[in-house]
Amino acid sequence: MDADAQPRSGRAPPGASMSGAAENARMLAALLGVEEEEATERLQRRVLITADDGPAAGWAAEIATMLERTVLLTNDPAQADVELLVGGAAARASAPAVYAAIDAECAVVSRAPVGPLGAEPPLPLFAMICACGAAAAVLNAVVDDARLPPTPDPLDVRLADLALPALRGLAPIDLSGAVLVGAGAVAHGFLKALRHLPVQGRLDVVDPKNVGSGNINRCLYLSDGDVGDPKATALVEHAASDFHYLELAPEILEFKDYVAKRPKVPLAIVTIDSRRARRQLQKYVPGKVLDASTTDVRGVVVHSHIQPTAGACLACIYQHIPDEAARERSIADGLGVSLAEVKQGFIDVAVAEKICQAYPSLDPGTLVGKAFDTLFRELCGEQVLRTPEGRQVLTPFAFVSALAGALLAVELVRQATGRAETNYWQVDPWRAPLTRMRRKRSKIPDCEFCSRPEADTVVRHLWG
Ligand SMILES: [Zn+2]
Repeated sequence: MDADAQPRSGRAPPGASMSGAAENARMLAALLGVEEEEATERLQRRVLITADDGPAAGWAAEIATMLERTVLLTNDPAQADVELLVGGAAARASAPAVYAAIDAECAVVSRAPVGPLGAEPPLPLFAMICACGAAAAVLNAVVDDARLPPTPDPLDVRLADLALPALRGLAPIDLSGAVLVGAGAVAHGFLKALRHLPVQGRLDVVDPKNVGSGNINRCLYLSDGDVGDPKATALVEHAASDFHYLELAPEILEFKDYVAKRPKVPLAIVTIDSRRARRQLQKYVPGKVLDASTTDVRGVVVHSHIQPTAGACLACIYQHIPDEAARERSIADGLGVSLAEVKQGFIDVAVAEKICQAYPSLDPGTLVGKAFDTLFRELCGEQVLRTPEGRQVLTPFAFVSALAGALLAVELVRQATGRAETNYWQVDPWRAPLTRMRRKRSKIPDCEFCSRPEADTVVRHLWG
């Protein structure tokens, strides 16, 4: 790690040299079609962030949070490969510059100087979303390759495009009974955004898995010391102090075991990373669903619904696709287990022993309870295992997952204030979120949940 990089959170800044850097390099290598060594070199380039005092300084710190898990940050102008100038600050380095400014209504990021914006500071939730876009633009300047998804110049993010109600004076949102399903990168982004909203009550955080080294490159609350701890506990421990009126409660178990204890879930906030797991979750029929997912680094999808709904359910949105079957087959082949075993989602004792026959260097004890996806990704990351479908098990950069989580918070406010007239929002994380990309998705005729005749009865029985 760069000795001059400034810690932003009191804990060691993650930087691109920590565990998780291999995952970033693999993602970039796949995007650019280059060897991992070359991708690693590009991600070890240094970004200098220079900000005015005043409101811009807070936003600059937010952008640093989005960047520090992907590239190196420096405070030494002589070492800078790119300098980000925030809020009209004067350059300290002779490196290529990216300019960024924000006010209450918009943020502008450009390779050319940005004129002064209004004096009113942005809402913190808006600033976080704009920080994700700024990180995308800076990453483009750092990596400097036309094969990376492009950011428009200027990148212009407008508050109006989030279609939020007025947040100042918003009535408290009580989350009691709600469940955050999954404590991975999107969940981290969600809580980072949620702390800016007036929330109260209690939110259960459900995840059966432990933190792996590959989680550090994109989970905003984690550092290396968390590896091996339960994901739900680690997230709750680090995020709790951000909330005065909301209690976060970790539940280290699978969602199906959680609903065995509390069968009626009024709101499920879904951040898990498998399509199959989302379809399975729909069978427990939460009253309301807020869901966000990422497609490697290229896309973010936000889905929401309130039962009874005439529109799409989770199983409609994440219907089974052939790609998914190919991925599961390659996981089964790669790990030396059967397709049926992969479809269970998690590794049990018998399967752990089977995998260790193919990979004697692994310890069955550490595999039990792990998701197949996670182990597969780790083995790919360590180059123990490679498949042609590698791209589908790549993990996004931190700013992409953080954006997905922040947009989930946007949908929470919209749902809580009766503005959820659409149920699907596709956002390009390299561009500004656009409200005109919101859609009303219909049920699909062969949905494995809502096309079944009994589905309607169950929904009406539970939710009227
Ligand atoms: Zn459906």
